Amino acid sequence: MTEQETLERIRELEATSRRLEPPRAARDRVDAAVIEYGEGFVDRLPGLKTYEIDRTGVQRLRAAPLSEEPAEIDELLALLESALVEPGLNPAAPGHLAYIPGGGIYYSALGDYLAAVTNRYAGVRFAGPGAVEMEDLLLDWMAGLVGYPEGAGGNLASGGSIANLIGIVTARDARGLRARDYHRAVVYLTGQAHHCIEKALRVAGLGEAVQRKVPMDERYRMVPAELERLIHEDRDAGLIPWLVIAAAGTTDVGAIDPLQEIGWIARDHELWYHIDAAYGGFFALVDECRPRLAGMELSDSIVVDPHKGLFLPYGTGAVVVKDRGALRRAHAYQAAYLQDAEAGGAAGESPAELSPELTKHFRGLRAWLPLKMHGLTPFRACLEEKLLLARYFHEHVQRLGFEVGPEPELSVATYRWVPKTGDANAFNAALIDAIHRDGRVFISSTQLDGVFWLRFAALTFRTHLDTVDLLLEILEEKVGELLS
Ligand SMILES: *Cc1c(COP(=O)(O)O)cnc(C)c1O
Repeated sequence: MTEQETLERIRELEATSRRLEPPRAARDRVDAAVIEYGEGFVDRLPGLKTYEIDRTGVQRLRAAPLSEEPAEIDELLALLESALVEPGLNPAAPGHLAYIPGGGIYYSALGDYLAAVTNRYAGVRFAGPGAVEMEDLLLDWMAGLVGYPEGAGGNLASGGSIANLIGIVTARDARGLRARDYHRAVVYLTGQAHHCIEKALRVAGLGEAVQRKVPMDERYRMVPAELERLIHEDRDAGLIPWLVIAAAGTTDVGAIDPLQEIGWIARDHELWYHIDAAYGGFFALVDECRPRLAGMELSDSIVVDPHKGLFLPYGTGAVVVKDRGALRRAHAYQAAYLQDAEAGGAAGESPAELSPELTKHFRGLRAWLPLKMHGLTPFRACLEEKLLLARYFHEHVQRLGFEVGPEPELSVATYRWVPKTGDANAFNAALIDAIHRDGRVFISSTQLDGVFWLRFAALTFRTHLDTVDLLLEILEEKVGELLS
């Protein structure tokens, strides 16, 4: 190409690439359509199903493949409605009472909007000092909630699974485990530990480590005396007791392990103490709940999940480590091409030195904006409400004739119908199937010692008394239908 031809080609390409920066009027039109759709979705929520078995709408995505041609926003929103919003589970709905529910508070969506529009770099302090400071401010607040002293550090990750992985990698390096030790290193946890822990151990290269399942009491909580006994046995057998993982709120039944006793044992035996509080951690915002979470401050690292307990949309988990240095030593790096950032002299570590990620979503804003806009009071109220709703449900479902598990420690309750004749497990499987077909609410189930239990889990911020009453009504109706 001659220089002239090159310039012509550049101008031609510029004209086309400038389409990626639509003018204000075009943006206004799209903004209005998207906001109208989003606002309409929120308004329609009370009437939307929580679960839709029919998934045929999903196929429309493939029927409209990516192409060179631009599409119209209205057409795309219609596609989203049928392919995305209608089929499957609607976790934004008040009737989401399964697993550990999420929610998605509205101002968080606006935080994501601002984070994406400004596209601040949240991985390195030199580049995004405000974004990193915001992340630190949130993590310091969480560290305070846990009861950690000065010197703690953490990371906003994509969710609890990655946050647990970061904790485990930190524990591995802090205790100086070498590959040749892995098969002798012992992790203590219960059979109720979240499956992401086992996955994280494997991903961290510790698949060969010994996973010692500590016996539980009748409420599925770790028995500290058994933990201590196993540590002694393992040490006598030449193994390396390394890590104990307790749960502050198990997924299945919402049990809180005896955090304090486990902490003392971990300290006496120099084990790293990690708490998975992905579900239960933010209940520390409720005064009444704090005594049940006492002992969190004894841990070396802890995971909380803002997309559960702070009702954020999916995509934010957090790990906090008591010794910030341990977190940094496990994740620090050097790269020649980042020398300017180092010379930039911004004080304090960057998230990139405290986690596996370099470039990352600016996760702070989606948490900070709603926390600032609402203040903490309604968050505390919403969490306490969920605790009381679980107790209310536990009481009222018994009045309907259901058998129940223990009084809920947090906002999860277990229950099942025991028919006079026939197999109870099969009956409850049929019952949950009928509820899923109905779709007004969505519940999940689990197996405990071979018994099929239905679960009630309240953590969607939109779940209030009317939803719980609706579930009770539906349960009564469906049991009646199945019995007749
Ligand atoms: C949800 C949950 C996890 C996993 O967190 P994700 O955010 O889903 O990755 C881990 N542990 C417990 C106790 C949980 O409730």
